[in-house]
Amino acid sequence: MIDSHCHLDYIADPQEALSENGLTGVVCIGASPDHARSAVALAEQHGHVWATVGIHPTDASEHDSPQARAELERLALHPRVVGIGESGLDDYWAQDVRPQQQAAFEWQLNLARRLGKSLVVHTRDRQGQESAHLGVIQTLREWPGVTAILHCFSGHQGLMAAGMKRGDYFGFAGNVTYKNAQEIQAAAREVPLDRLLIETDAPFLAPVPKRGRPNRPGYVRHTLEFLAGLRGLDAAELERLTDANARRAYGLG
Ligand SMILES: [Zn+2]
Repeated sequence: MIDSHCHLDYIADPQEALSENGLTGVVCIGASPDHARSAVALAEQHGHVWATVGIHPTDASEHDSPQARAELERLALHPRVVGIGESGLDDYWAQDVRPQQQAAFEWQLNLARRLGKSLVVHTRDRQGQESAHLGVIQTLREWPGVTAILHCFSGHQGLMAAGMKRGDYFGFAGNVTYKNAQEIQAAAREVPLDRLLIETDAPFLAPVPKRGRPNRPGYVRHTLEFLAGLRGLDAAELERLTDANARRAYGLG
């Protein structure tokens, strides 16, 4: 079972975490120069860990600089780096940093295109608004050649339609298991089975029945079982499909 999106370097005992619940692979997201270096180091140490490198939208105003870009370009060439990001737009915390987020997003789209890698996309709105989703839809429209991995997918109908048309992937995290997650669950029922990814986003967003605890990559199995129930599939069959999707989306060896 592959965890297609995890912040493994935030976890105190990565070695032990990797041995839990039959994990066979983890994509470790390195979304700042420091985290990118840690993600690459973990991928060098563990044969079933791969890394992404990029700048998270909530860090764009602080971390995006010519030096950071040069460092990330260098790291992106590492053979264990399988994607760029996570990038995207986040209006939840602050809206006045949109120009910096947009610039970092477009720089990462360009890097992903130049290197032929997928871009991991984070999209989060402020409650009751959809400005981040609309911005992501509009930006992705201008980059038809880059495959996006719409991580921690929100269920937003417009982004779902746009992503399906583009051939993007949809990552479902532990929050799909939450009681009030009707929109995310509706999307998880609809996404084509060859575009569906499962992730933890650990240490964040632990799935039921671990909700409220720090998340671990092995908990991806709870989300798998929940999604198998939603889709009326055997968990082993869904695991086979979503592992193959993760390998295709990231070009894992
Ligand atoms: Zn993440």
